This record gives sequence, C-alpha cells and structure tokens, in this order.
Amino acid sequence: VSYVDSPARPLVELTGGPPPGAAELESRDIGAWFGDRLVLEGVSLRMPAKEVTALIGPSGCGKSTFLRILNRMHELVPSASLTGEVLLDGTDIYADGTRPQQVRLRIGMVFQKPNPFPAMSIRDNVLAGLKLAGVKCGDKDALVEQSLERAGLWREVRDRLGSPGGALSGGQQQRLCIARSLAVQPNVLLMDEPCSALDPTSTRRIEQTIAEIGHEVTVVIVTHNMQQAQRVSDHCAFFLAAENEPGRVIEHGPTDTIFNAPSDERTYDYVNGRF
Ligand code: ADP
Ligand code: MG
Repeated sequence: VSYVDSPARPLVELTGGPPPGAAELESRDIGAWFGDRLVLEGVSLRMPAKEVTALIGPSGCGKSTFLRILNRMHELVPSASLTGEVLLDGTDIYADGTRPQQVRLRIGMVFQKPNPFPAMSIRDNVLAGLKLAGVKCGDKDALVEQSLERAGLWREVRDRLGSPGGALSGGQQQRLCIARSLAVQPNVLLMDEPCSALDPTSTRRIEQTIAEIGHEVTVVIVTHNMQQAQRVSDHCAFFLAAENEPGRVIEHGPTDTIFNAPSDERTYDYVNGRF
C-alpha cells in the first residue's frame, strides 16, 4: 500500500465527540444468529489502529453481519443475537451500560448504496451526523471544509455547498457520505462494499480517499473486488461458509501473504477467482 506520507492534520475541535485518534478493534470468538440460525462462528480478528483491513469472501458468508456486529447495528434486527466480544482499544463495546449510540459515534459506517439526505444541502449533510450524535463544533465552516477535504470532495463542491446532496453524482454522493461519517471524527470507519454501486473512476477516487484516511482512522472494508483489496488493504481476512454451515474466517494475515502465499487452498482458489 503506497500511502502518501503526509503528516496527520490537526482536526477541528469538537465537544462531545469520540476521544481523538484511531483505535484498534478486536473481535473475540464472535458467533452470530438470526433466530435459531447460526450465521457466523468463532470469528476472532485484530484490526490494528491506523491500518486498513479488508474482509473478503463469497456472498452470504457473513461479512456484512460481522461489520454490523462491530458497531452494534446487528442488534437492530429483532431476531438477531450474538456471542463473543468486540474490543475497541481494549474496552468491550457490548459491556453493560455502554450505549449503542456512543459506540456508533466512535465506529462509523458507510454502506454500499450512497445514502445522503437528498433534499438537504451538501453542507448540512456533512453536519447531519453531529446533530444525530449530539456533538458540537465551534467552527462549523472549518469542519465542513475539513471533512469534505478528507473525503476528497472539497474542491468539487466548495462553490455549491448549498446545493442538495441528491444533485451530486453517485461517486460524489458516496464521498459525501464518507465526509458525513468523518465529521464526527470517529476512531474507526467501517465500509460495506462502498464502491460496488460505482463506476471505475469513482471507485478509484474512493480508493484514494481510503488510502489517505487509512492512516488517520482504522478502516475495515468489505469488498468483492480482489484488485481493490490488494490496492487498499494492509490486512485481509477471508470468510467462507460451507453449505449449511456458518461463516468462518478461513485465513487472515498481511494482504500480500493472503494473495501471494496463502496457506489454505480455499483462500488460493478464492483470490484467484476460482469461485
Ligand atoms: P455477506 O455480507 O457476506 O454477503 P451477510 O452477512 O449479509 O453475508 O449474510 C450472512 C447470512 O445471514 C446469509 O445467509 C443471510 O441470508 C443471513 N442474513 C443476513 N441478514 C439477515 C437478516 N436480517 N435476517 C435473517 N437472516 C439474515
Ligand atoms: Mg454483504
């Protein structure tokens, strides 16, 4: 991964936001159910701070479920349950008394389909996350600029911050969603196939953004695009669910190892496009 080696920019000051900086995320022996159906088993992964971890594997093996467990969105599904632990810098995000909203403030999420508020201005879209989370900022203009800048969108929209978010192209809308997530200055950013709905040019712009923010926040990205996993990630985890079995992590490690010297034949077959 060829990160631009720029010094970390000081972030605009917020009150009520997460503690500053990137955090390590670690799952320990995660099991996940929908009703009585076990869909994930024994998932233990360390996702180091300020690095990009890619989750790869076929459809239906539990990657999105795992991502949602990492920021307490899994519990929004009424039939869902889980076992195991998720540690954010060593603290269990499921500990008694921990509020899901506080967790989601520290661990942001970007989805496959860009979902800005279409009628809301670009500026207000960026600030929308703050309002929802009860975070305050004394210099909103600086925060809007910084967030859009970090998401690689500032130069394209600086002259039309009052235009509706829905008027942007798909790729720009996705970068707006990234800016909205970054505005609260999370410690971790989760991305679930953020480029699958986008054209190749927009995809490359977002990969560039990931490369830049990937050394400021911890990024966990689900992708079906093997070239993308190789371009953006430092670590890779290969998920697989055998027929009528829950998804499991077959192998994880440095991206280079997963692609060029995997130890499991199923990993080799998957990264080489055999299934
Ligand atoms: P992936 O992201 O790897 O494609 P998912 O995490 O979306 O996989 O799904 C894992 C399994 O859990 C699949 O079998 C899927 O059908 C099931 N599943 C996902 N979401 C729900 C849900 N809300 N209710 C019931 N089953 C679900
Ligand atoms: Mg998915």
